[in-house]
Amino acid sequence: MLMLVAKNGQGQLVYAWQSKPGRAYYCPECGQPLRLCVGTQKAAYFAHRRRSSCQLDQGESSQHLTGKHQMWQWANDHGWRPALEVYLPRIQQRPDLLLSAGPEKVAMEFQCSPLSFERLCQRNAGYQQLGLGFIWYLGPRYRHKLRAVKRAQFVQNYFGQPAIFLWDLNHCRPIYSRVAMTTAASSRLMIKQTYHLCYYPRAQVNLRQRVYQAGHLLNCCPLQAHCHAPTPFLMKESDFSWRINVLLWLEKMPLHYEWTQDKWWASIQRQTRWQSCPCLSTDSRRHFQTWQLQEFTQELLATYILGRNRSGYYLKQQPVWFENVSDKLNAITRHGE
Ligand SMILES: [Zn+2]
Repeated sequence: MLMLVAKNGQGQLVYAWQSKPGRAYYCPECGQPLRLCVGTQKAAYFAHRRRSSCQLDQGESSQHLTGKHQMWQWANDHGWRPALEVYLPRIQQRPDLLLSAGPEKVAMEFQCSPLSFERLCQRNAGYQQLGLGFIWYLGPRYRHKLRAVKRAQFVQNYFGQPAIFLWDLNHCRPIYSRVAMTTAASSRLMIKQTYHLCYYPRAQVNLRQRVYQAGHLLNCCPLQAHCHAPTPFLMKESDFSWRINVLLWLEKMPLHYEWTQDKWWASIQRQTRWQSCPCLSTDSRRHFQTWQLQEFTQELLATYILGRNRSGYYLKQQPVWFENVSDKLNAITRHGE
């Protein structure tokens, strides 16, 4: 593997780009002599002289190496005193970078290769055990397609907004790619989604069946079910499907049923299966979950499904399932006026 850190003859840790050819360098893990490679194209690096069973001699891509080097430089420019590949014996982990921002220490990882959910949770749990913060930057392979599951895995809190943190190797800088939170759909989107439901009758079969068993058709769902949420990360189902569940639950409640604030939040929580997001702190996870529930509650209030009373909320009106699609399209048009 290519390494950026080695020990010099005096036993001090040195970085490859500060080292000089012709001197002796040793592996900080196994103590074997290392080769310093200085090219004109690539950043300088160390490598074991011959293939070894050393833990640090396991294949690492040059992409990963370049990224780590860039991240070190970037963190250094920001005054975060970065250290590369520091071994943390208590948890037997070696984060790519360890930053010190005042008294706080933060592990920074640059993930280029696939990483299982379990390994990710283990790594984060290790850092938490030491009271370290952690940040994950994803490499180019994650740049374009990030499935919902992966999104949930790597979503982080960027100044109160959910985001995926990417590292841009071409420009040596981080990119914070925002992940959308739930919002009500515009009339135009409601129409589009309704047509979509009609044209693809075999999409969302399970949801259609659940709705059918409750005596409705999915195509004729209440307007409150429609939302802007292309890529869910918070919940184990789509935002649309979650909204349908909540609306079906509300339908079973008697008109004017009352909830105290606390009861309402607890009840709507029970309709929700949260995804575990291992790169969010407990506080951040709670922040986004509350956001989700509050946003929909506001929409239910604004469309008079819920009303407010002194102690909390009450069911003001049952959600309206339409008789047919043309009734629904008419209602959407009226709604937009
Ligand atoms: Zn070694």
